Amino acid sequence: MFGILAYAIAAAAVLAIVFWLGLAYWVNKDARRRIRHPFLVGVATVVGLVPYVGPVVYLLFRPAETRDEVRSREAELAALEAQVAQRRPTCPECSASVDADFLVCPVCTTRLREPCAHCDAPLERLWQICPYCATRVEAELDLDEALAQEVRSLDRVADSPTPQAVEL
Ligand SMILES: [Zn+2]
Ligand SMILES: [Zn+2]
Repeated sequence: MFGILAYAIAAAAVLAIVFWLGLAYWVNKDARRRIRHPFLVGVATVVGLVPYVGPVVYLLFRPAETRDEVRSREAELAALEAQVAQRRPTCPECSASVDADFLVCPVCTTRLREPCAHCDAPLERLWQICPYCATRVEAELDLDEALAQEVRSLDRVADSPTPQAVEL
């Protein structure tokens, strides 16, 4: 009778120890997925080693997102920002943001568009015909200069830095 009781207590103790170490291992694994700084991972692991209470405390204070989640969120954000930046027209000379119907850049006074001779609509410098009233553009267009400007503005979009992913 006494022998069985001792056996049961020993088995319970072994189970308790296995469960304690398993929880500590889980805390360490989870901390490495969520925390970048090795020192903080160490702190989390030490907290996780406190029997049973430690993992609960860790759960309360761990970062909400894993490092993978942070990375993909920031990658999505950067892609969105790049899309927005591409959609908003900028001055080819000074990169100031301009509206699609500006005739000149208000910052550096670069000529951006020419008004249509017939309807005064703002025309891109490469356009050969007004899309609003179908009047042919007769202006003495410097095609080389206009093309060079277009290439410069495309280069600027390609060079624009994408935000770096920031981790914990
Ligand atoms: Zn400008
Ligand atoms: Zn026109």
